[in-house]
Amino acid sequence: MPEKMLKFVSIEKEMPEKRDAKNRKQDFHEIYAEYIDAKANEQASRCSQCGVPFCQQHCPLGNNIPDWLKLTAEGRLEEAYLMSSSTNNMPEICGRICPQDRLCEGSCTIEQSGHGTVTIGSVEKYITDTAFENGWVQPVKPPKERDQSVGIIGAGPAGFAAAEQLRRLGYQVTIYDRYDRAGGLLIYGIPGFKLEKEIVLRREQYLKDSGVEFVYNTDVGVTVSLQELRQKHDSMLIATGVYKARDLNMPGEETHGVHAALDFLITSNKLSLGDKVDRFESGELNANGKRVVVIGGGDTAMDCVRTAIRQGAKAVTCMYRRDRDNMPGSQREVRNAEEEGVKFDWLSAPTAVVAKKSGDVKSVTATRMKLGLPDASGRRSPEPIEGSEYEVKADMVIKALGFSPEDLPKLFNEEDLVVNRWGALKVNHANLMTSIDGVFAAGDIMRGASLVVWAVKDGRDAAEHMHAYMKAQKAANQIAAE
Ligand code: FAD
Ligand code: SF4
Ligand code: SF4
Repeated sequence: MPEKMLKFVSIEKEMPEKRDAKNRKQDFHEIYAEYIDAKANEQASRCSQCGVPFCQQHCPLGNNIPDWLKLTAEGRLEEAYLMSSSTNNMPEICGRICPQDRLCEGSCTIEQSGHGTVTIGSVEKYITDTAFENGWVQPVKPPKERDQSVGIIGAGPAGFAAAEQLRRLGYQVTIYDRYDRAGGLLIYGIPGFKLEKEIVLRREQYLKDSGVEFVYNTDVGVTVSLQELRQKHDSMLIATGVYKARDLNMPGEETHGVHAALDFLITSNKLSLGDKVDRFESGELNANGKRVVVIGGGDTAMDCVRTAIRQGAKAVTCMYRRDRDNMPGSQREVRNAEEEGVKFDWLSAPTAVVAKKSGDVKSVTATRMKLGLPDASGRRSPEPIEGSEYEVKADMVIKALGFSPEDLPKLFNEEDLVVNRWGALKVNHANLMTSIDGVFAAGDIMRGASLVVWAVKDGRDAAEHMHAYMKAQKAANQIAAE
């Protein structure tokens, strides 16, 4: 065992410094500072180099965590970068926004033994940020260019990861996106205080420098059909994410002042990117001076409450029908939100949005809940407490109940595209191919609303299967031509 490691007994867990809540809620910059070199080395050296690394087993990408921690502890950062980037196309992004408490860090052996986890995500972010600063991140130069081309629909993390992997193999890659910018939810969903926009733009530039072509403002199914793209490319990847907001299904849902979470977040993200947005200018999607109620308990809800705080909301309440321990969002984000002044109404199920005479939102009524017996999935389902109805005053209500897939067969006018009962694309799990030959799928549109790290994993897997498919196509064409 190298002398540098196993320091968890003598060195305490230390996260990078977190900006003071009073100060950080004034802007949209990230809240954690970068590790200074010595601190990253020190924290990496806490790893006990487990023979069976549970951290790695619980990372969807199977990142070789113990090895890059050891290289970091030894100050061999360029090697750490090469190792880290060999399994992950955006380590600096996953290091920032993976819910590590539920993945790698939550399974770290020294966390389980009460010493506090190795700060894996922060070290991962530090390694690649340092690599960019030092010019170690070089554009992809494939050993040989191929004449086959790939069309990717969707410039989110799944599309990004697949594009990079396919460029490494020498394919000509074009990404089509309906938005005016690349990044998917990384650019327009996730706010800057979790992931600064420059980090996403840097990845986009890296792909451009690697020869990936981006075609923006192209809504496949509207601007161009899937059929046309299939004729142009040797294989296609659908990585369109999930964007249909779930409804509240309660009286008053249509009241003026009730908004879908993504409308609110996209507006705020566009402002951070320097755009002018009319619905913000008019005050409609600006929380400033308002009492804001956000309904939901996932990552999207957390991002909405913290965005509202930064816009200068008078009060922000988050209503969620289960308790803190049973919410889907990250516990770390809840703590951050509480520090910034968000009030959580746990075990609270909204029943109606009440309107003023003017038609604007006046309040949200809700019922207090208690947790019943666990259901089949082991989760305790909430039950209403009789006579516990109450009201929260509100000027703005944000629906953050999650997302479902759009009706892709209809949108793409492709009846042959088969979806599952939740509307996500059905694939052959052995090769991620959809029901249409040569058309593959990755990310949220295939697995339902999930995480960035899973989108990256799917994008990498899809690239591998597309490569096998195109190689076979090429061989078949050659035989036919002989
Ligand atoms: P997306 O990122 O959604 O990208 C899909 C792209 O396809 C978009 O750019 C879209 O414009 C484009 N597209 C869609 N339809 C078409 C079409 N017809 N034609 C052309 N282009 C099209 N995950 C985490 O791991 N950590 C977090 O902290 C986190 N926070 C989140 C916060 C919010 C507010 C939201 C909504 C999600 C969050 N997630 C988080 C989840 C994560 O963002 C997604 O799981 C991930 O982005 C999915 O990647 P994707 O590539 O499948 O799709
Ligand atoms: Fe942990 Fe996510 Fe990095 Fe994997 S990709 S090591 S889960 S932070
Ligand atoms: Fe190191 Fe924790 Fe992974 Fe073990 S589980 S190898 S201690 S990071």
